[in-house]
Amino acid sequence: MTKVRALVLERQHELALRDIEMPLEVGPGEVKIAIHTVGVCGSDVHYYTHGKIGPFVVNAPMVLGHEAAGTVTEIGEGVTHLKVGDRVCMEPGIPDPNSRASRLGMYNVDPAVRFWATPPIHGVLTPEVVHPANYTFKLPDNVSFAEGAMVEPFAVGMQAAYKASIKPGDTAVVLGAGPIGTMVAIAALAGGCARVIVADLAQPKLDIAAQYQGVIPVNIREKNIVEEVARLTDGWGADVVFECSGSPHAWKTIMDLPRPGGTIVVVGLPVEPVAVDIAGASTKELRIENVFRYAHQYDRAIALFASGKVDLKPLISETFAFEDSIAAFDRAVEARPSDVKLQIRVAQ
Ligand SMILES: [Zn+2]
Repeated sequence: MTKVRALVLERQHELALRDIEMPLEVGPGEVKIAIHTVGVCGSDVHYYTHGKIGPFVVNAPMVLGHEAAGTVTEIGEGVTHLKVGDRVCMEPGIPDPNSRASRLGMYNVDPAVRFWATPPIHGVLTPEVVHPANYTFKLPDNVSFAEGAMVEPFAVGMQAAYKASIKPGDTAVVLGAGPIGTMVAIAALAGGCARVIVADLAQPKLDIAAQYQGVIPVNIREKNIVEEVARLTDGWGADVVFECSGSPHAWKTIMDLPRPGGTIVVVGLPVEPVAVDIAGASTKELRIENVFRYAHQYDRAIALFASGKVDLKPLISETFAFEDSIAAFDRAVEARPSDVKLQIRVAQ
């Protein structure tokens, strides 16, 4: 164990930037990474404000942060695809590679997965971490650390687009223009959608999403989303609907949005169980898909950044110094509608 400085969630509502013991010995198949940039995620903020997410409860001090990029400083025995000095980003969830889910290729739903900053596993708002090399991805020279730290949230969008089985020229609807909804819209466009109708109540969020070519913003304070989708698709409906709001209200009319034979991809999670119009889904033979984090998306996301087809830099609202980490979290708690992604630069 090594004493290192870290942003520690002591308990609900209490953060401290202090020293903590972390395991930094590099074992076979592992690499040590000097952390450069870490994104502040809604889940980190939720642990701060609520002390738990579903069954995951903060019962002991925990280091926050899981959206990270940095530089390899040491490689363990048997690591061949990385070397010291490589700029990298890391997948925060480590499954048991021999589990049944992993052997099926669905390592993200392995019940044994260990995920950074999900109790009791420490996150990475600290200068150095050790991580399996197989979940560490080299960044091309033209992808910055800030973009590298955006790969994690964008991978959720990639997983949603992947599960939708988008066809070239599809019309999609995204309900909810928060950080994840916006990334889903961008991934859907990269995946071949001709246009993505993005619905939200907050105009600043819609304005940010609408910077991307192909996004059609709909403010649902002013317009009825069912009527708008019908109007824009000549009454046929959308090929794919991504539910990213987590709002129970979205489920009241969601079956009116897809075309016959269309798809609903569930990304947002309502806190309480919601009523679902099964008959509405049945009469259209809708396909309903679910997303839990992501699997096999990091290399694809990095390839899209490197190609220039996806530019997430406009979504980075502000970058804080490591010493100001607590201020970064308090700003995230404010939930300004014009903030998409706040980041913390750990490296000097
Ligand atoms: Zn995240």
